Amino acid sequence: MQQKKRILLLATGGTIASRKSDNGLKPQITPEELIEYIPQVKEICDVEAVQLLNLDSTNMEPSHWKLMVHAIWEHYDDFDGFVIAHGTDTMAYTAAALSYMVQNTKKPIVITGAQKPIDLEITDAKSNLIDSFLYAADDRSQGVQIVFDGKVIAGTRAKKVRSKSYNAFSSIDYPSLAVIQDMNIMRYIPMLPYEEDCLLYTSPSPRDRTR
Ligand code: ASP
Repeated sequence: MQQKKRILLLATGGTIASRKSDNGLKPQITPEELIEYIPQVKEICDVEAVQLLNLDSTNMEPSHWKLMVHAIWEHYDDFDGFVIAHGTDTMAYTAAALSYMVQNTKKPIVITGAQKPIDLEITDAKSNLIDSFLYAADDRSQGVQIVFDGKVIAGTRAKKVRSKSYNAFSSIDYPSLAVIQDMNIMRYIPMLPYEEDCLLYTSPSPRDRTR
């Protein structure tokens, strides 16, 4: 039997990890708790989790992207893929930045979040997280993508187009790469295996290569 993939969850905050507070939603749910909400993930992969940040993503800055790249680099050899839990407001910017800062990665980097916190009875958080782990653990996945509401969108193509509906992201001027339904990944665009080594940068600028 094939060994289960090892996936690292990097939690950064966002609505997915928020609880109600006197000042509205506030990220408070730990990454370990996020995983407890989706016990079925154990059947898909082995998960470890790191609380990298705990922000509303409207406060995300380029230094935070650097932190994400650093965490990926630090753990790159120990894991088969990465899932980043992120607020939806700037998720598309992070996805684009990471696409340039981590190039040719054969180990998938999946960014996801939710319109509703994971501790609510009715929420998109659980399905988005499960889909993300499923996608990150799939042999054919690579590169940087957003997985949200059953769609897999290239990291350089995503845009948040709805602020309330679960269907929050669209792929701009390019088809979604795949859809995920009932735990099945249906790929529309075959991924050509990267021939070059993974390149890591400390900023989206080509001058700032680290590895
Ligand atoms: N303001 C939140 C954030 O981007 C919205 C969300 O996560 O849906 O962190």
